Amino acid sequence: MNETLNAVQEARALLENATPLKGDCGRLCRAACCAGDEETGMLLFPGEETLYEGCGFGRVVPARYSLSGRPALLFVCRGACPRQDRPLACRLFPLRIRLTRQGPELGMDPRSAGVCPLYPSGVSGLAPAFRDSAAQAARILTADPVCRRFLQELDRQLTL
Ligand code: SF4
Ligand code: SF4
Repeated sequence: MNETLNAVQEARALLENATPLKGDCGRLCRAACCAGDEETGMLLFPGEETLYEGCGFGRVVPARYSLSGRPALLFVCRGACPRQDRPLACRLFPLRIRLTRQGPELGMDPRSAGVCPLYPSGVSGLAPAFRDSAAQAARILTADPVCRRFLQELDRQLTL
């Protein structure tokens, strides 16, 4: 699991400062993607839960489903966090990583459709630096077998 967590942390680092738009897109929507409640949360990548032990701004809760044979875990926050500590799913939003025969591809996450004002513009409407960082993160994640299976299963469930 150490190699998996390393891959997740590398992906997190790549997306630490990259943002979907050059400016603060949260101003467009009052940070709608951070306005979850006690029932919603951001899906954690494999091993990422270990980074939130004793966390002061949110907690890890089990989801009601499994991914690639493991119980899925969600991070439920209070709507604000130290930027450098936000989960990888928050850093990638509103993108998703898809696995194709040609390799990983970025697409808009269907879960962002009713939430994010950037959804209608699609991937090409996002800042190039964000797309590049996300593409690099996708290559790192899909090179790790555990993350790859996780993304495959997530892609399958999002496509159902
Ligand atoms: S919902 Fe979309 S536009 Fe709003 S803060 Fe989140 S990523 Fe940015
Ligand atoms: S952890 Fe931070 S970035 Fe993620 S939803 Fe909560 S407040 Fe938003």
